[in-house]
Amino acid sequence: MSRFIPSPIDVPGDSGSQELRSLLERNLSRVLTRIGANVPEGGRAPELVAVTKTVSSEVTLALVDVMVARGLTPHLAENRADRFEEKVLAFEAAGVRPRWHFIGHIQRNKARRILERADVLHSVDSLRLAETVVRIAEELERDVEVFIEVNLTGETEKHGLLAAGVPEVLEVLAASPQVQVAGLMAMGPARDLRTVDEVFFEIAALARDLELQSPDLLSGGKCRLSMGMSGDLEAALQHGSRFVRIGSALFEDLNLASPPSPRPADR
Ligand SMILES: *Cc1c(COP(=O)(O)O)cnc(C)c1O
Repeated sequence: MSRFIPSPIDVPGDSGSQELRSLLERNLSRVLTRIGANVPEGGRAPELVAVTKTVSSEVTLALVDVMVARGLTPHLAENRADRFEEKVLAFEAAGVRPRWHFIGHIQRNKARRILERADVLHSVDSLRLAETVVRIAEELERDVEVFIEVNLTGETEKHGLLAAGVPEVLEVLAASPQVQVAGLMAMGPARDLRTVDEVFFEIAALARDLELQSPDLLSGGKCRLSMGMSGDLEAALQHGSRFVRIGSALFEDLNLASPPSPRPADR
């Protein structure tokens, strides 16, 4: 479904873009080293999902180039519907097809726009949204992979289902032939209510319970985990995460190197 079609990426060949590329290569190497050092013994290497919500389409294209040069499948994630559409269009114009992940909260009135283009949703966080996703995926006849977002941090301001709400949402999603349930998505705690380890441990336990109770509702019988960001990827991998969502660590020091934006007179 989502082949990556290699094609030369047209980044202007000035010194600014060479500097950009070197920084992206350095940052990507650092992230891959951190990942490599934390995959549990005998565990499979996780997928690196690059969260590109803070950078332009041009920087995102350059990152994909660097990822492909390292032999990685480019998984890209955005968290806002409008920016997501903008990026997809820029990539279509460049003839590049990464695998598109949507990781932000999904307002139901924007679900169609997101489902028209996303390959993977990480943020199905309510029964009503699950029903909407199923209906639209079927109308569009579009296959979509879905993670159910859970929130076990105790932070009520965050999105995500409590453990008790997960089975019902799983059933609704799995009933649709267009939807593959990949597993659970979670974020670590932002405040010190609970430790990252505690939260990730519980989510991994919940995933194992779901695998035991309802393997036939899960894609391939597996409940995979989408956990780990720049600040807590080590802990997430130690708890078996299969998809790490990394943003800031990939773009470290970038604004130092970006060429100055054109003056109005240059446009
Ligand atoms: C921004 C974001 C990330 C990436 O966070 P970094 O700390 O920049 O790596 C991961 N997941 C979600 C849901 C996000 O919104």
